[in-house]
Amino acid sequence: MEPLILDGKRVATEVKESLRLRVSALKEKGIVPCLATVLVGDDSSSETYVKMKGNACRKIGMESRRIHLPKETTTSELLRVINELNSDDDVHGILLQHPVPKHIDERAAFEAISIEKDVDGVTSLGFGRTSFGFGEYPSCTPAAIMNIIDYYDVSVEGKHAVVIGRSPILGKPVSMMLLNRNATVTTCHSYTENLAEIVSQADIVVAAVGKPNFIKGEWVKEGAVILDAGYNKGNIGDVDYDSCYEKAGAITPVPGGVGPVTISMLLKQTVDSAEKTAELLKKSS
Ligand code: NAP
Repeated sequence: MEPLILDGKRVATEVKESLRLRVSALKEKGIVPCLATVLVGDDSSSETYVKMKGNACRKIGMESRRIHLPKETTTSELLRVINELNSDDDVHGILLQHPVPKHIDERAAFEAISIEKDVDGVTSLGFGRTSFGFGEYPSCTPAAIMNIIDYYDVSVEGKHAVVIGRSPILGKPVSMMLLNRNATVTTCHSYTENLAEIVSQADIVVAAVGKPNFIKGEWVKEGAVILDAGYNKGNIGDVDYDSCYEKAGAITPVPGGVGPVTISMLLKQTVDSAEKTAELLKKSS
């Protein structure tokens, strides 16, 4: 039987439609949800990503404030900019585009983002809260994966989820989110032995490796749900789509799977933050 295609474009379109209404309602209260993006240096892919995020904001009526700093910016100068954004009441979310130039202490810069505005889920406090199960703004790609799971009503409880990758923005938080939903989770990484055997036991496979076509169909159990977060040069996922398609019960394509939902999660979390501001203003008036 052919697998169900988990269509990220469709999920993202629905999320953005509902966000448009929430943005209009906020505007009637005098609040324009605003995402500030901070880009340091002139990496062309980072510039493209930041531009895409800004355009996505504008398309649903949000504001996007773009701060582009020169590549010579020091850690303390970057921290000053982040602190200014933290105390700017018109800014509801802050995104520091990764990677920053090597001489900058990136971790210190991420940690400087206030938890209320950490809509990209990059602070250790945000990660800790997500792991405990009450994080408000998880990292966006894990949030996108969970959103696709929920949209298609994929059963998670009691299932064996195998996550390949353990990065702080992807593999680790998605493992914790699946665990919080009562999956039995195995997180694999570059030191994992017998990877194919572990993957073959998975009901849910999350690929977050950063290696094109890495997960092979012959590793995958018949009927498994496959979520491919990978995005490699040439629009290629971490999953070998053709061979996995033959075995999967459901699968995300690349492109058009996890990627579009990731951006919509960034927008959603910024709108969530703006709504909290509106609530606070209402209480204090
Ligand atoms: P990353 O930081 O490079 O992490 C890759 C992970 O894969 C690491 O934990 C690494 O293990 C593990 N790994 C590497 N080789 C392996 C092997 N042979 N066997 C098992 N595990 C192995 O990458 P990332 O930022 O998490 O991104 C992963 C993928 O997702 C990339 O393709 C990226 O482009 C994509 N991505 C997509 C989105 C989106 O919106 N769709 C967003 C972010 C990232 P170690 O920890 O041991 O090194």
